[in-house]
Amino acid sequence: MSLEKKMKVVVLGSTGSIGVQTLDVIDKHRDRFELLGIAARDEVSLMLEQARKYKPTVIAVGDASCYKEMKNSAATDAVVLSGLEGLCELAAWPAADIAVIAVSGAIGIKPTLSALKAGKRVALANKETLVAAGDIVMEQAQQYKSALIPVDSEHSAIFQCIKGEERYLKRIWLTASGGPFKDWEKKQLEGVTVERALQHPTWAMGPKITVDSATLMNKGLEVIEAHHLFGINYDRINVVVQRESIIHSLVEFLDGSFLGHLGSHDMRIPIQYALTYPQRLASSAAELDLTLLGALHFEAPDLLRFPALGLAFQAGQTGGTMPAVLNAANEVAVNKFLNREIGFTQIAILVEKVMEAHDLVSKPDLDCILRADTWARQRSQDLSKLLVRS
Ligand code: MG
Repeated sequence: MSLEKKMKVVVLGSTGSIGVQTLDVIDKHRDRFELLGIAARDEVSLMLEQARKYKPTVIAVGDASCYKEMKNSAATDAVVLSGLEGLCELAAWPAADIAVIAVSGAIGIKPTLSALKAGKRVALANKETLVAAGDIVMEQAQQYKSALIPVDSEHSAIFQCIKGEERYLKRIWLTASGGPFKDWEKKQLEGVTVERALQHPTWAMGPKITVDSATLMNKGLEVIEAHHLFGINYDRINVVVQRESIIHSLVEFLDGSFLGHLGSHDMRIPIQYALTYPQRLASSAAELDLTLLGALHFEAPDLLRFPALGLAFQAGQTGGTMPAVLNAANEVAVNKFLNREIGFTQIAILVEKVMEAHDLVSKPDLDCILRADTWARQRSQDLSKLLVRS
């Protein structure tokens, strides 16, 4: 094992939830992986702490105003890059084997494309990239023969279940925890506070994705993500609430067989698999004892109480620039909810209004997608002013 070449990894979004857990996985397998580069937006002190520990060769700071502070720090002699160009340069860093894209939001699109173009293995944890620019991303992965391995737990599950049998696939069953408000009445949902929305029952994640899990928009984004990753039509993607979050998704084959992926809900499992694929290594995740689990529960999601999921299906089926618009409007709406400017149920209302106002481009190039993204953000700002905070 020790004779194997160490894989060199760059992590974009190293200070976020997935980033920190990626570093944890690398830490456990120092004989197999080396952290070559890190990037984050503006969390300079945590980045410096990571730099002291892992001694990366290169560091990128997304927010250019933090560049000087990082550059002048005595804690690291790494090459320091900045801005979106810096993120793209890091993602394609010549000595790197794997780029983990764990930044949050549409900012991940260009670095992902840059890594794929450079022939890196991309461990993709940023779902917005596939949602907004899935056709282009998948095309580039194919063109440059770069491996795109999903880190999202559901897609990692499907990726593992489907391997080698894509042609027999009948349907994908994407599992959802249902979020913290699964059983709440419509009226109660209107009063959801920021504090309450940030308490997820099973997964510990960053604020954006935690709110997305509560509205089920996260599952909606994952539906679009699955469509691109596995080249499957929307009418063959089913969402099922799996309360215990033990089954991370399933595939159904033509002959009626189902294969599911089970495991404890610990993101280090899919993160590590994206790094070690097609091999497996021991993990630090808690062991799962099925005898203590007792039962597994399944139910259909309620699209009336959680309209965001339906909006995502609609955006995906419409295609073109619409998924980018859905995603951008949702990013703005979630921020506004976190800033207490709009209510919880107004997130989906705002997204729907922006989608309705959008002039669709059905075969967009990357610039067109980015313009739709910018347009949707501006439109969301404007339309949010018309919403009365309930
Ligand atoms: Mg997920």
